[in-house]
Amino acid sequence: MTYEGVLTKMKTEITDKVQYYLVFDSDFLNLNQLLDRKVSINFLRYQCLNCGLEKKIFRQGFCFDCFNEIPQAGEWIMKPELSRAHLDEEDRDLEFEKRAQLQPHIVYLANSSNVKVGVTRKEQIPTRWIDQGAHEAIEIVEVPNRYLAGITEVALKDHVSDKTNWRKMLTNDIKDLNLVEEREKLKDFIPDEAKEYYIASNKETEIEFPVLEFPKKIKTLNLGKNPFYEGVLKGIKGQYLIFEDGTVFNVRGHEGFVVEFNIL
Ligand SMILES: [Zn+2]
Repeated sequence: MTYEGVLTKMKTEITDKVQYYLVFDSDFLNLNQLLDRKVSINFLRYQCLNCGLEKKIFRQGFCFDCFNEIPQAGEWIMKPELSRAHLDEEDRDLEFEKRAQLQPHIVYLANSSNVKVGVTRKEQIPTRWIDQGAHEAIEIVEVPNRYLAGITEVALKDHVSDKTNWRKMLTNDIKDLNLVEEREKLKDFIPDEAKEYYIASNKETEIEFPVLEFPKKIKTLNLGKNPFYEGVLKGIKGQYLIFEDGTVFNVRGHEGFVVEFNIL
């Protein structure tokens, strides 16, 4: 079986374990069914997710020009504290920014290898946690816009990490923590503007990933450098495919790459 198309991040849903899908233009593929099967990935060409042109991908699936122009790649995406739509101020496209920023956002703690703080739109929960490979997570505040979430995250970063150690996440070098307690410790550091949005009580969400075997040592597959790979799929965690030989493939990191995906 051969599938061909441009890679976008894997779609997910939670049943007892996370179900992962590769979605192509005319087809989709449930990857959980491919565990223990040999597959190959062949990089064919680039295709920018915005302009569709065959231009080298710069970041987030976009070519350099699109990344620097389109509202979907504004700086406030990665740095929510730079959001300005609540002040009616435009970055690249005010209508787009209002739709994206002026909606409920969550500041959360997620544990994928260490506890980190993060921000997401409310509708992206639990998707965001799955994408990060978090085995447990909990909400801290629910605020009405992205700016308030951003300044809360910045304030909490002084007391908890904002990075995932993806090597530890992929080798399953993880600890279970009591996130209710971790959350409690941070309460006093929430900025005044956001204090009223503290979620009074809630519990951890636990997430189970479909992994048969975790690698001890990992090597990353970069299709830009090595355009062909084949191996036996042993697991899926975060946005990574994990193979028997310790190779890991970041699907999200290859958005905009057109590939041929073969099930051997
Ligand atoms: Zn483009």
